[in-house]
Amino acid sequence: MYPNRLKILFVLIALLHLALVGRLAQLQLVQGGKYSGLSKKRLIKEHTLSARRGSIYDRHGRPLALEEASFDVEVRYKNLLYSYYASRSAKDESNELPPDLSKIKAHKRRDTACQECHPYDDLWVERVSRLLDLKPDELLARAEVAVKRVESIKKNVQRGRKRRVRIQEELASLPIAKNISVEKAAELETRLEQYPGVSLVARPKRYYPNGELACHLLGSLGKLSEAEWQKIKGLRVESSDSRLSLYYSTLSKDTLVGRGGLEAQYDVELQGRPGKRIEEIVLKTLKVDKVIFDMPPQAGHDLFLTLDLDVQRLAESALSGLGDKNGSIVVMDTETGEILALASCPGFDLNTFNLDYTRLASDPRKPLLNRPLQAALPPGSTFKPITALSALAGGEIAPSTQFYCGGKLMIGDRFRHCTSTHYQMRLEEAMEHSCNIYFYETAKRLEGVNLENKARAFGLGEKTGIDLPFEGAGLVPVTRSLGERLNLSIGQGELLTTPLQMTRMMATVANGGKLVSPHLLRKVVSLEEDLPWESASGGSRKKGTVSISPEHLKVLRNALRRVVINGTARGKGLDVLEVAGKTGTSQTGTKGVYHAWFLGYMPYNNPRYCLCVVVEETTGHGGEVAAPVAQQLAQGLLHRDTAQLTAKRDTGIEGR
Ligand SMILES: [Zn+2]
Ligand SMILES: [Zn+2]
Repeated sequence: MYPNRLKILFVLIALLHLALVGRLAQLQLVQGGKYSGLSKKRLIKEHTLSARRGSIYDRHGRPLALEEASFDVEVRYKNLLYSYYASRSAKDESNELPPDLSKIKAHKRRDTACQECHPYDDLWVERVSRLLDLKPDELLARAEVAVKRVESIKKNVQRGRKRRVRIQEELASLPIAKNISVEKAAELETRLEQYPGVSLVARPKRYYPNGELACHLLGSLGKLSEAEWQKIKGLRVESSDSRLSLYYSTLSKDTLVGRGGLEAQYDVELQGRPGKRIEEIVLKTLKVDKVIFDMPPQAGHDLFLTLDLDVQRLAESALSGLGDKNGSIVVMDTETGEILALASCPGFDLNTFNLDYTRLASDPRKPLLNRPLQAALPPGSTFKPITALSALAGGEIAPSTQFYCGGKLMIGDRFRHCTSTHYQMRLEEAMEHSCNIYFYETAKRLEGVNLENKARAFGLGEKTGIDLPFEGAGLVPVTRSLGERLNLSIGQGELLTTPLQMTRMMATVANGGKLVSPHLLRKVVSLEEDLPWESASGGSRKKGTVSISPEHLKVLRNALRRVVINGTARGKGLDVLEVAGKTGTSQTGTKGVYHAWFLGYMPYNNPRYCLCVVVEETTGHGGEVAAPVAQQLAQGLLHRDTAQLTAKRDTGIEGR
C-alpha cells in the first residue's frame, strides 16, 4: 500500500504518538471545584505515560524481543451517543431505547440528534467504516454496546447517590476498534482532522520476531498476581537498595512484568519508569487548557545477549530434526562462559504464550521446562573424565596403569558388566571405548569422598549461577559404600547433573582449569552508558579454578580426541571438524531406554567452543544419537569461524 520508507516514517510517527499520549491506566477525572482555584467548568485529568520496555538483541544486534505498538481507535462518548440516537431515530425505534434514556423528554432527544446543530457528530461512522473496511451497522452495533454499558453504570451511580451525575466515561473516548494495522493507524494519524471525535491510541505490545526461537531463555510478560503485588508493596518500603526501591515504586498492579527467562531476570533493567502528566481540562469542550505537571517516561534499557541467533537456530533445528524427542543443547565459549546457544526441545510460541499456557502446562512432554538448566539427569559416561582426573591426582592410577576387561567383573556379591570385552587397557583407551570395567577397577582404588569432592570441585551439585531463573542444582550423592562409589565412577547411581553443569565441567577441561560463569547477558545499553555483564545485576560472578596437572590434562585431552577418531563417537564426522569429547548413554530406569549424551569442545588443539547435546529417553546410544547432532553443530560453528575470519580480513573488525 505504501512504499517501504514511507511506511517506516509512519511507524515513527506512530511511535512518537505512543511516547506522547500513551496511557497506561485509565483516565482519572477529578471534578473541578474540589481543588482551590478551579472553577466548576474545569477539571483535572491525570495520565500515566507508559515507558518503553527495553528490547533484547542477540550478540550481533539482531532483535529477539521488541516493544511494538498496538493501535486502537477510540471515539468520544458524545459522538457514540449521538450516532446511537440518530440511528434509532432514523429507524423510528426510539421506543426501544433503554428505559433510563427513553425517560428523557422527546424534544431534548430530538435536539441531541439534530443534524443542523451537530453536523459532524455522526461523521465518524462513515469515515471509520471506510478506513477499516467495516460495515456502518457493525460500528453502530459497537456504539450501542458502549452506550448501553455506560448508561447502565451511570444509572447505578445515580441510584446510589440519588441525583443526576456525569460519570467519567461520558467525558472520555471509548475503544471502537482494537489492534488495527500499522498502515491504517498511520493513515488515521496523518488525517486525524478528517475524523471528528476519533482518536488513535497506541498501547505497547511485546513482540518476539522469531516466534518460538530461544523461547525458554527469553521468557514472556504477564501481570503480577495479587500475592506478588502485596509482596512488592511491602518491598517498596523495606528495600535498602535505592535502585530496587525505585524499581518497585514504578510497578503498579497492572504493570506487565517479566514472567520467566531473561524478561524476568532483567526486569529491573528492562522495565523503565512511567511518566505522569496532569492537565487542566475545560469541561465544555474537553480541550486541554494547560499542563500542570509533566514528567516524561524513561525508557527501559536494552539487553544485548551473548547468544548467537544463527547458532541458536541451528541448535533448535538439530533437536527438532530428531522427531518427538526431548532434548537440550548448550554451546558455550570455553574461556568466557558466554552462552552462544541454549536450546530446549520441545518449545512454544512466545507471541501466543499466554493464550496457550493451560495447554502447555499440562503437556506431558513438559515444553515449559528449560531443559539445559532444569533437567537433572544422570550424565553416564560423560562423567568419566572426573573419575580419571580424581584418580590421577590421587595417584591411584597413572596414565600407564592397565586393567583387564573381560566384559564383566565380580565385585562384592554381584557381576558388573561392560558394554563389550575390551581386554587389556590403559586410561586413554578405556576413555576412547568407554570401558566400564576400567573405571570400576579405578573406583575400587579410590578412597572415601575424593571422587565426590572432585565432582563438586567441577561445579556439580550446585547451580552454575547462570543469569536465568529456576536453575536446577542437580545432586552429587554422598557415597557410603563401594557399590555407590562404583556407580558414581561411571556417572550413574544417584548422581544428577544438568546439561549446563556438564558443559561447564568440560569447559574447565578445555581451558585448563578455569571454572567459568555461564551467562547470557553481554551488556546493558541505555542512553547514558553501556554496562558490561560483569557490572550488571543478575546471575553469579563467582569464578573458581580446579587444579589439574598439565600432564594429566594432556592425557585426558588425548583420550577425548581419540573418542571421536576411533572410539564411541567414531565415524560421525566429528574428527575432521577438530572436535574432542565424550559420549554418554545413561540409564533411565526403563530397560532399553537411555539418555544419549555428547559432551565436547572444539577445536581440540585450541578450544574455543564447548558443546553439549542431550537427547532424552531414546533407544540409541550417545555415539549413535547425540554425536550426529554435535556434528551438525560443529559444522555450523566452523562456518561461523570462517565467516568471521573473512569479515575480519575485509573490514579489520574482529567478531567473536
Ligand atoms: Zn438543532
Ligand atoms: Zn570394557
